Amino acid sequence: MPSPSIAPAVAHTGFHPLRTAAIGLLAAAAVALGWLGLQVAPQHVVIDVREHARRHQVELENRLRLADRVLRAIAADVAANGRDSAPLGDAERRYFDNVTFMRPGQAPIQMLPTTGEVPALEPALQDQVDLGETVVVTQVVAGNTQAARVTLVRTIAPTGALPALLAADVSAHYLWAIGPAPAQSGGLCVREAGGLTLHCSTPLAWEASATLRSDLATSTGPFAWTAGPRSWQGAGATLTLVSPRVRDHWTVLALAPPAAATDGLDAWTTSALAWAGVLALLAAAGFVLLRRPGGGASGAPVMRSAPTVAAQPSDHAATGHDEASLQRRLDRQRSAIRAMAEVDRASLSRAGVDRLVELASAHLLLCTGAEALVIAVLESDGLNRMTVTQVFADEADTPSPEQRAIDDSLHSLMAAPTDGGWLHKLGGMSLTQPLVARGIGSAFVLPIHQDGQPAGLIMLGCRDPALIGADETSNARAISGRLGAALTSLAREQALYAQTHFDTTTSLPNRQYLKEHLPQQISRARRDRVRLALLFVDLDGFKTVNRIAGHSRGDLVLMEAARRIRACLREEDIVTRFGGDEFVVVLPKVAAGMDARRVGNKLLEALARPYLVDGEEHQLGCSIGISIFPDDAQTVDAMLRNADSAMFDAKAAGRGRYAFFDAAVNRAAIDRSSLELELHHAVAHTEFVVYYQPQIDLRSGQIDGAEALVRWNHPQRGLVSPYEFISVAEQAGLIENLGEQVMLAACLQYRDWDAKGIAPQRISVNVSSLEVTRGDIVERVERILSLSGLRPMHLELELTEGVFLEEASGALEKLHALRQRGVRIAIDDFGTGYSSLGYLRRLPIDVVKIDQSFVRDLTTNRDNASIVRAVLDVAHSLGKMVVAEGVETDQHSAQLVSMGCDVGQGFLWSRPLPADQFESFMRQWQMVSRPVPLELD
Ligand code: C2E
Ligand code: CA
Ligand code: CA
Repeated sequence: MPSPSIAPAVAHTGFHPLRTAAIGLLAAAAVALGWLGLQVAPQHVVIDVREHARRHQVELENRLRLADRVLRAIAADVAANGRDSAPLGDAERRYFDNVTFMRPGQAPIQMLPTTGEVPALEPALQDQVDLGETVVVTQVVAGNTQAARVTLVRTIAPTGALPALLAADVSAHYLWAIGPAPAQSGGLCVREAGGLTLHCSTPLAWEASATLRSDLATSTGPFAWTAGPRSWQGAGATLTLVSPRVRDHWTVLALAPPAAATDGLDAWTTSALAWAGVLALLAAAGFVLLRRPGGGASGAPVMRSAPTVAAQPSDHAATGHDEASLQRRLDRQRSAIRAMAEVDRASLSRAGVDRLVELASAHLLLCTGAEALVIAVLESDGLNRMTVTQVFADEADTPSPEQRAIDDSLHSLMAAPTDGGWLHKLGGMSLTQPLVARGIGSAFVLPIHQDGQPAGLIMLGCRDPALIGADETSNARAISGRLGAALTSLAREQALYAQTHFDTTTSLPNRQYLKEHLPQQISRARRDRVRLALLFVDLDGFKTVNRIAGHSRGDLVLMEAARRIRACLREEDIVTRFGGDEFVVVLPKVAAGMDARRVGNKLLEALARPYLVDGEEHQLGCSIGISIFPDDAQTVDAMLRNADSAMFDAKAAGRGRYAFFDAAVNRAAIDRSSLELELHHAVAHTEFVVYYQPQIDLRSGQIDGAEALVRWNHPQRGLVSPYEFISVAEQAGLIENLGEQVMLAACLQYRDWDAKGIAPQRISVNVSSLEVTRGDIVERVERILSLSGLRPMHLELELTEGVFLEEASGALEKLHALRQRGVRIAIDDFGTGYSSLGYLRRLPIDVVKIDQSFVRDLTTNRDNASIVRAVLDVAHSLGKMVVAEGVETDQHSAQLVSMGCDVGQGFLWSRPLPADQFESFMRQWQMVSRPVPLELD
């Protein structure tokens, strides 16, 4: 029984006993492998059984990792939603027989209802759990000779004071049922480091495991084993568990009759292949770095044909027998193990390439003694880029990965042998340049393999190549292997993610992506108390294109449509291809329906432009359904359903339009959008007329002024009230143009009356806040004054209170400037907004217009009467004039007179009138000179 017992050589190094045992085991394994490589490989016999063990080990490790991932997902779900909202389904049952949710002091809750007691955790394991690790607990179940029970335990909230735990029994069926065994195999066993047999596939394997117990504690073979008349070849492969800090390892043991193994000779016909098998095994087991002190016979990198890389003549330099060198070697091994564990852990927690490289680079200098380290990794984005990280032992800078275009030096360096090789001519290559610059003349170059293909490299530079020996290069190989494995699983995960979350035709995210991301968007909108809009966009006429022009041209149209949609939106908006010719757009933050409307209009316009495919023009359009959170729906499904139904409304209403989910809102929106379009036309064609309403001086009874009030002379609807269109004009950006038209008309009208000798003191024009905050109102007023020849003192601008609060926009300065020019400023609708009497003092105004609502029930509502009285008091004390609006009755008028109000305006005297009627009104008024009662009663 050839089980080389070399463990004692490291037994007195002062390590923790467990660690020491592991090192002993590994040292033995590595030596055995070295021996295998040099002497046994040509017989091919052992490799077959080793390969069997190794494959099983890799598969088992993958299964445990996957189970851990599933458990993490369950834990995250429970943490986010509480246990009740996380019922486990068939997917979880595939991995686990039993999932139990435990909180200290409370009865455990079975999430997968198969009874089974949760194992108690040893204190050491509890520590690991508290750190947020998943630990593996094994128990032999009485009466079950097939398999031990394997339980994954992890915490739900590692930071909580009394954290809740999840314990999940990994389904034996899932964990152990791994592939068919090779013909005539003697079976497989999985053993724990402590010697406990967890599972065996055959009775023979049980027997072997039981009788080989002592041998396997220190060796993974190869070994011979005799059962009755037959002898067997056996070999082991070691696997690191989910959490490397817990339970050192399991060993997979494979058995094969020597004859059977020899029969498989043709699978290993060349010695090169045999070497590859051994080395793959070394990398997979990951423990090749631990070898007998004093340097084993093997481990020298195998050189292959790579022109720039030459064999290193001697790599045994650092293998002295003294204590110091032994200690150094062990330190380096420890650092390598740590790097591997960290890379593994990062890989499990789905760290990105940068993080993986960072972790590896943090240890590579330490565990190899190199002076310079370069890690280059190909980017997977197909843009021919690589990320390069450089670290130098004597420079304190923290390494920062840098993106570069791939050049030839990467390719020629990646062609180094799989196990690495020495390079003694470093000149002329961009990647080696920083080494040359520091006088470093040699480098050990080791390709990083991802999915069997070189995907990067590790380069260890040193001035004296003799300082990097076999121990060191194998440390580097071990780390490179782990890095490669991590990159492989990352790439697979990314590929899988892309495959399941993106549409290949348009490159847009797909329905699955939306279903995963929309809930987050909705909760964010809820948290930030903002509205979120979901637009369901369905192409009109796409099916015709597909039918007439064929599917491949149809795809081109879809790609173009996707591009146009994306171009209409902001970075933070989500666009997905939902299916066939349907797209879903999510606007994470909208102000009421307005933004959604604007985007809807943009999309309608963009998608309706002709599509040119292979020289042929296609005309499409789209119909859009809009659903708003939280107004219309609060869940993902309801949002989609509502938007979809609104989309059908839009189609039903004639396509090429958008519809809001709510029927009433929907109708209003359609009205509004057509109103907006018509208003554009109206502004361009001056469809507006200005009416005038007299303002009466309550003391003299004379006409003091006239307020200009706009009406829209709509071609079909006749006169439209400003209440209907002013706010739309404001939102559509038309108000400045409209306001200018009214002001000019009013000023010219005033000049006309003036020329006729009937003009009142002044003309008032309503000005929207936006005209003051956005536009250059001062310049505009000046232009109109000079155009019309009106003197500023005859012009009064009516502004609502809001504008006086817009200090940031410079509104107050503009109003001051206007007043300085002699233009009068009135505060309109006073009392309806923020109005405080105190702030009247600070405002650049001449006139206060008391809102109609106070005047309407002036005679019946005492509060209103006292408010009006107070306004009059303050305004008069500040020297401002007061106009009362909405004076409809003689009582109103009389009361206002008695209160000392200056001017009245309202239906009592006249409704707003067209210019010519207003003119007759004025003439009549002068003739009648209707007296205003000076005293009530
Ligand atoms: P406003 O500035 O408060 O104008 C007074 C409104 O009250 C006018 O409505 C007028 O017809 C009405 N009114 C006058 N006397 C009485 C009365 O005794 N009783 C009642 N119940 N109502 C009376 P109108 O003309 O429909 O204008 C509505 C609003 O539209 C105006 O309110 C003003 O805010 C806005 N507006 C009108 N023209 C313009 C304009 O050229 N530019 C801007 N930005 N806004 C305008
Ligand atoms: Ca007004
Ligand atoms: Ca008013």
